[in-house]
Amino acid sequence: MKKLIQRILELENISKELEPSELKRNEYHQQIQNYANSFINDLEISKAYSDEKIKQGVLSINGIKKPLSRLIKDYANEVAGKGINAASGGHLGYVPGGGIYTSAIADFLADVTNEYAGLYYASPGAVVIENEILNWMKSIFGFPENAAGSLTSGGSIANLIALTAARDHHKIKSDKIPKSIIYLSPQAHHCINKALKIIGLEDVIIRYIDLDKHSRIDVNKLNEQINKDKSDLLNPFLIIATAGTTDTGAVDPLMEIGKIAQRNKLWYHIDAAYGGFFILTHQKKELFNGIEMADSLVTDPHKGLFIPSGTGAVLVKNKEAVLQSYQYTANYMQDSTRINTNIYNPADVSPELTRHFRALRIWLPLQLHGIEPFIACLEEKLLLTSYFRNKLLEIGFKTGPEPDLSISYFWYPSETVDENAFNQKLLELIHKDGTVFFSSTIINEKFVIRMAILSFRTKLRTINKAIEILNNARVNLEKEFNYA
Ligand SMILES: *Cc1c(COP(=O)(O)O)cnc(C)c1O
Repeated sequence: MKKLIQRILELENISKELEPSELKRNEYHQQIQNYANSFINDLEISKAYSDEKIKQGVLSINGIKKPLSRLIKDYANEVAGKGINAASGGHLGYVPGGGIYTSAIADFLADVTNEYAGLYYASPGAVVIENEILNWMKSIFGFPENAAGSLTSGGSIANLIALTAARDHHKIKSDKIPKSIIYLSPQAHHCINKALKIIGLEDVIIRYIDLDKHSRIDVNKLNEQINKDKSDLLNPFLIIATAGTTDTGAVDPLMEIGKIAQRNKLWYHIDAAYGGFFILTHQKKELFNGIEMADSLVTDPHKGLFIPSGTGAVLVKNKEAVLQSYQYTANYMQDSTRINTNIYNPADVSPELTRHFRALRIWLPLQLHGIEPFIACLEEKLLLTSYFRNKLLEIGFKTGPEPDLSISYFWYPSETVDENAFNQKLLELIHKDGTVFFSSTIINEKFVIRMAILSFRTKLRTINKAIEILNNARVNLEKEFNYA
């Protein structure tokens, strides 16, 4: 017994390293704070992209402790300094959000008290905060108060949850799969296909509906296809619309599709991961008419609410459908089910049990700043998109059609050289420079440069800088092409 106690105390002594003293904690904070401040202060002048490779081995683990100062240095150089700088306002590719600082503070708080956000029993406060966020979203999107929902790691898992509910509500099991049909835009995000595969629906029939000239689902085509499928005695059960496609930011005609879904008793899912929060803007509110008709809806706070990466959301009107898919219990959970509340557990609407208390990173900023600056940022992004497109035309670029939201594309036209090769090379030059970052896509077999203006840090001066860089790169490249 004495030996046992002695050993326990020895181990306690070694493991106390994991509970730094207040002095040590302050010291850590000071170092992290200094780095965070210089990182943010320098954002205006730092690169939005660096294609530099990371140094071999610097980040590897050997079990031996190292000083925080060195770890911060390695982080700054190898992690924050390479690839896309997702915090930079110059990030105009993919779908940027920026990542507001007060979410980082919220994460810190959530991690210190380590709230268990899966079950009401474990942390009623955390669960109530999550449900308040979901309630707020329901009110924005016109969903009824009794809808269910969940905060997820992102849009991919949020879509997965919604599609599972659709599957289970329509009882799409093995015998029904070969005849069951999903209607989709060819511009729908690939995470939908991924989710269908994960949930065992890869063998359902997927009908990609033709798009109209604005890259939105053509509702006449949709109608015709459903009628045909029904007369062929197939089993249409799900329509997926997108409110803000990834390639062109198109918002499908939500109301008309909603009516078709209702008439045919199909589950109506809307993926608004990118576009959803533009419903808060004065300019674009009306594009979202009909979103309230959805049976399930996905949004990504880490896009349109500028929250750092790792937060998506799903709302599902039919609570039973989603609980049927995700509510489980077990003997070792009996204590948690003993208290009777009307509040359901986040774990009942998610494949996760133990989960990050991600609601706090939305709740704290919303409470601290109010909604106004968020809306102002979204409205600013729409105006910056128009401004950018006008400026591009002024310097001789061509732009894609007027976008629904803040994703658009452009290219430099040429009659003498291969246009695709020229624009590809142009994007390479922009990447090499790294001051701003764009991505690219293929539209109608044409290589185009894609711009997505969504970071809360993208400002008028950012766009002016982007224009200057694009213009210089174009001039230089033209010389090069002409000599070749
Ligand atoms: C970003 C996006 C997704 C995927 O969401 P993640 O948060 O990256 O998992 C799905 N659909 C649309 C329309 C998106 O823009």
